[in-house]
Amino acid sequence: MAERIPESLQKKLSERLHFYEDLGVRLFYKERGAPHSQSAATPAVESLSESSSQQISYEEAALPKSTRKPELPKPAQLSPRVASPQPVRKPDALPVPAGPSLFEAFDKVPNDTLLKIRTDLGECTRCKLHTTRNKIVFGDGNPKADLVFVGEGPGHDEDMQGLPFVGRAGKLLTQMIEAMGLQRKDVYICNVVKCRPPENRAPEKDEVTPCSPFLLRQIDAIAPKVIVCLGAIAAQTLLETNRGISQFRGQWLEFRGRKLMATYHPAYLLRNPSAKSEVWKDLQKVMAVLGLEAKKGKSAEAGKSS
Ligand code: URA
Repeated sequence: MAERIPESLQKKLSERLHFYEDLGVRLFYKERGAPHSQSAATPAVESLSESSSQQISYEEAALPKSTRKPELPKPAQLSPRVASPQPVRKPDALPVPAGPSLFEAFDKVPNDTLLKIRTDLGECTRCKLHTTRNKIVFGDGNPKADLVFVGEGPGHDEDMQGLPFVGRAGKLLTQMIEAMGLQRKDVYICNVVKCRPPENRAPEKDEVTPCSPFLLRQIDAIAPKVIVCLGAIAAQTLLETNRGISQFRGQWLEFRGRKLMATYHPAYLLRNPSAKSEVWKDLQKVMAVLGLEAKKGKSAEAGKSS
């Protein structure tokens, strides 16, 4: 008699198959089998009942738990697609442990577009955040931007409007962008998770994991010259590390062959204005790479410590 696969393993396999599918890796299996298919079991999306706009904590120290993805079988064993050569990571460019990187391992989805990614995301029920969200916050801005900002996850205002960084932290981000000589419409802004975590808590691993393929595809589709990670969660997710952001912020790092700069989250700056000058230094490095000149008067404002 065939051995029964333990339920926990079935769940893991099911999640993993969803993950690959969201990355655009399809048809390497015949049937997913849906013992844990959420769509069947989950209730319809409830509207957000709470309206509090609690302050986001944005812990900038090391996370209590790693957001590193589980080790996955090599894609070659799973996918019939031939892997194209991956960008070589400079051995000492990243202050993160070397090891198998889920993000590095995946090919681009051919001819991917933000519209297709949004369609694939659908009225997402892949994690528990869908039960409390009001609107999905996919991302906003120039689909061909040279510069992509990645935040943590929507807060109250973003959840209400369906747009990223439109609350207090968003206003500061807008000032920072303008100080760089750009406008919001010139850049692309998105988050690690597309739905608001309740009480603005940090997103959990089982929320980050199913959302990550969409972020990865957004970045690949936009193909920016520079990615700026706003805060620890964004940086730790893309770099697959649990190191504290202060250990590597302000350094040029690499994500799938693109330049990545991690800096403090604007919400952190609202509580710690003295860190603004550090962030301004980081953004000036980004400006140098993008050939941007600071807008007169604005830079002083953005770098001001209080
Ligand atoms: N904080 C984030 O990380 N993202 C938003 O969209 C808003 C606040």
